[in-house]
Amino acid sequence: MRIYELAKELKISSKRLVEILSQLGIEGKSTLSSVSSKEGQAVREFLAERGPEAAATKLRIPCDPIVTFLGHVDHGKTSLLDAIRHTQVAEGEVGGITQRIGASEICIKDKRIVFIDTPGHEAFTAMRARGTQVTDIAVLVIAADDGIMPQTREAIEHARAAQVPIIVAINKIDKDNADPERVKRQLAEQDLAPEDWGGETICLEVSAVRKEGIEELLEMLLLQAEVMELSADPAAPLRAVVVESEIDRQKGPFSTLIVKEGTLRVGDVLVGEQVYGRVRALINWMGKRLQEAGPCTPVQVLGLSEVSVPGQVFVVAASEKDARRMAQQEREQAREQGLRKREKVTLETILSRPEDETRFLSLILRADSQGVLHALADVLASMKEENVEVEIVSQGVGEVKKSDILLASSSDALILTFNVPVTGDIQALAIQEEVEVRQYQVIYEMLEDIEAALRGMLEPTYEEELIGRVEIRDVFRIPRAGVIAGCYVSEGKVIRDALAEVTRSGEPVTKVSITSLKRFDRDVKEVAAGLECGIKLQGFDEFRKDDVIRVYQQRRTR
Ligand code: GDP
Repeated sequence: MRIYELAKELKISSKRLVEILSQLGIEGKSTLSSVSSKEGQAVREFLAERGPEAAATKLRIPCDPIVTFLGHVDHGKTSLLDAIRHTQVAEGEVGGITQRIGASEICIKDKRIVFIDTPGHEAFTAMRARGTQVTDIAVLVIAADDGIMPQTREAIEHARAAQVPIIVAINKIDKDNADPERVKRQLAEQDLAPEDWGGETICLEVSAVRKEGIEELLEMLLLQAEVMELSADPAAPLRAVVVESEIDRQKGPFSTLIVKEGTLRVGDVLVGEQVYGRVRALINWMGKRLQEAGPCTPVQVLGLSEVSVPGQVFVVAASEKDARRMAQQEREQAREQGLRKREKVTLETILSRPEDETRFLSLILRADSQGVLHALADVLASMKEENVEVEIVSQGVGEVKKSDILLASSSDALILTFNVPVTGDIQALAIQEEVEVRQYQVIYEMLEDIEAALRGMLEPTYEEELIGRVEIRDVFRIPRAGVIAGCYVSEGKVIRDALAEVTRSGEPVTKVSITSLKRFDRDVKEVAAGLECGIKLQGFDEFRKDDVIRVYQQRRTR
């Protein structure tokens, strides 16, 4: 059963239903997903017990923010993170020894901030593509001497698609050629105008090398978190997300998990997709062993059976036997389905969403030049039908990249390309991620498809209209050019790219398109009745003198 069908039956919105499922520990659902009868039953019981509003009023406590650094390579993401860690370690109680566990916890003024170590938007989006959102706030790092670069723009798009607030850190202000004002101007161009430019974006000038502005950045992160009123329920069923996973010769497989809901304890039996195990030890980023970890705490977990992928969610199973069985079931299901996938987003699925909510057709555009890209984006963004809006998640010049596929996958978008290559690797990833990449060489075809999609008519229908009659008077074999029919247009007209039906003594021989149309030596688009011309057909050169060609044009009927 689809989410929206169940939501309708239960008289709640699809979004609310996804929320309830998540509170029941059933992750990774979107309004497009399906639910099993068992999952449906769990929601019914939940609603019967607590009523439709109850889930929101559970025992929730304020929660610390989880922060990811995004930005262009070499702009200083790692250095900033190191500088932040350094403040902690200098004051720290463990003699400055920190573990690299994939995330760090920084304490300031009795509050905490958790930083994810893997910088860059690929990891960020890969997690989102699995349906999990770990990050609460994104820090966009921009080098003051370099300004906004392509990956900065990508990072902005990815953070926006994830609806994560962005705080900008203009780094390297110690450099002689630093120009923070230029960066601010560029930010304004990206709709991220800083506060001192009349905008709303929190923007700080920092230097990772000189450790300047670090305190202010941390304070701003806390302030932002306060506004967001982040909360979690330590008594809820456990939901912990993998941020990093490795295998160690001595310790065996270990993963760093961040607890999002509930409390993780030593001795718990965890299961996440096909991986399971009893927690032998929990170690925090300072190398300290913990007995338990509450919401927003990153911990290294020892005792799991295998390494797991970032974004994977772990829950608690009743017993090791249960966990083994659940993991085994997952494995079998995964084998059956080839790969566990979300429902593929295509023009068709987007438009089959329930009509009572505004549907967005999210697009990622890639074109061969800035001019074409702008023109396409303008036209597409202005297209709108009742209850369906176009939303351009990302646009850019050049070929489709891995991060585009991940972004498309995590934001349910389609990728439209105009005259740009899609390499084999990327195509394979698109298939794996079930992302539709539609390639176009003709602008109006792209626009027509989207228009049709918005109107709910996906496949435009065409009718063949007879537009001319041509007699073959002679056949020429020209070296390199191939076989050309020397023709006379006896009725109507002939157009290049039209369909040609060759008939012999009234019987059809073949029907193919006209690939070349010439008057004398010149290529022409059209030849009218009463004139002679040379015609070459797609893959057919068995012309004979006195054959007749009927010329058809495809006309769109709707
Ligand atoms: P990342 O790729 O974004 O993680 O960038 P890194 O943190 O690796 O930094 C790239 C380079 O910029 C390194 O050589 C750093 O030493 C240098 N760098 C980082 N922050 C600063 C800064 O505040 N000032 C100066 N002058 N150099 C910096």
